[in-house]
Amino acid sequence: MLTRRLTLAGALALGIALPISLPATAQEAATKIPVVASFSILGDFVKQVGGDRVEVTTLVGPNGDAHVFQPAPGDAKKVSAAQIVFVNGLGFEGWIDRLVKASGTKAEIVVATKGITPREMADEDEDDHAAHDHGKDHKDHDHDEHAKKDGHDHDHAGHDHGGVDPHAWQSVANAEIYVANIRDALIAADPAGKAAYEANAAAYTAKLQALDAEVKAAVASIPEKNRRIITSHDAFGYFGAAYGVEFIAPQGVSTDSEASAKDVAHIIRQIKADNIPAVFMENISDPRLVKRIAKETKAKVGGELFSDALSDDKGPASTYIDMMKNNVAQLSSALSS
Ligand SMILES: [Zn+2]
Repeated sequence: MLTRRLTLAGALALGIALPISLPATAQEAATKIPVVASFSILGDFVKQVGGDRVEVTTLVGPNGDAHVFQPAPGDAKKVSAAQIVFVNGLGFEGWIDRLVKASGTKAEIVVATKGITPREMADEDEDDHAAHDHGKDHKDHDHDEHAKKDGHDHDHAGHDHGGVDPHAWQSVANAEIYVANIRDALIAADPAGKAAYEANAAAYTAKLQALDAEVKAAVASIPEKNRRIITSHDAFGYFGAAYGVEFIAPQGVSTDSEASAKDVAHIIRQIKADNIPAVFMENISDPRLVKRIAKETKAKVGGELFSDALSDDKGPASTYIDMMKNNVAQLSSALSS
């Protein structure tokens, strides 16, 4: 800064307008692309691909719950200053449209799940609420077009149905699609960085492929009869479909409404009838419901899974790769015997 000021002062003193040569660090700082990511997991993807060419700001931070996030005035400022705003889409950030509008931002809004096949939740009728099969059975359903149109609409004429599952990042194959979308958006915004973004994306994708193989191997070593667990909200449908673990949750794909007493009773009956071995807490959810379910059944509390947010830097899941490794380690240790 000192050099810049002196140079500028010198030029002004001489009364000449001329290109000012900035010191290298100031130049870099000045050209970093300001981008916003709606939540921490997406923020990590953007950092991995953007490297030192982008400055990433995250709206919903570590251990935060994006389903029920309430933007503050400071968030509108972040969005307003951004050149790109990366969002998950699939109805995850119900607050984003209003925030973007309020901020007056000119930023490009990039939906990082573009091209992912959304997992559509079945309509839930009155008599068969919690017991229907989430997970594996939906793997081959292809409601692609309908689901895309349906992404932001959770209420059909007052009837609350399951909607689209936004937690696409829980399949590592999907994470690779996020990365490709982020790469393309950064190249479009900053063509000079094309080679860097491509190299970063390729290196990170190789790590994701190794991670995917690691997750598959870890699940394969869990006895098949144990691959059924309870979590508090239905955040692991993509994981279940990709890796063959059945997740059952008293809460739906969002945390914005509490599980009903009927849902909880239904799940307790199901755990007992099916000998489901373990229930897991989530980093973004109140653990009391899951603990109560464990107490009323023979299921053990298997630990804490990271569903919708990373941990802070001191935690075991401060990056996406560490998050997936941590979750798989928790599943393996609770379900292996
Ligand atoms: Zn969620």
